[in-house]
Amino acid sequence: MIEIEASPWQTMVLHAERVYPNECCGAMLGYMQGEKKVVTEAVPLENAYSGAQGAHYELRPEDLLNADKAARARGLDLIGIFHSHPDCDAYFSQTDLRNSCPWYSFVVLSVQNGKFDHAHSFLPDAEQMRADSEELIWPKS
Ligand SMILES: [Zn+2]
Repeated sequence: MIEIEASPWQTMVLHAERVYPNECCGAMLGYMQGEKKVVTEAVPLENAYSGAQGAHYELRPEDLLNADKAARARGLDLIGIFHSHPDCDAYFSQTDLRNSCPWYSFVVLSVQNGKFDHAHSFLPDAEQMRADSEELIWPKS
């Protein structure tokens, strides 16, 4: 289970809506509370994909590394990656699976006509063969 606090959630939704109709991406920082992951900070990162970004995103490894360092400097962990699907459901695509890492939660935000619509979280396996869905709690406004 992953729970996103109000402030990082707002950051993620705003980033997704601002970058629309392109895909956005970013890092989620937080801590473990028993079995639950709690996201307390979201860090928008630049989509580094060199082609059309309407259905692709790419994270720079150094950006991720910096996010990880920033997390640890504040006693937090890098616990997940988020990205958006413009005018598309929040599913985990084959491309997403290919670019996944098994130790992170992957939150996908569906943005329809420039407005946040819904989101899901996924836990990819180590073989990049499948991603189970993970219960996601976000602040409903
Ligand atoms: Zn995707």
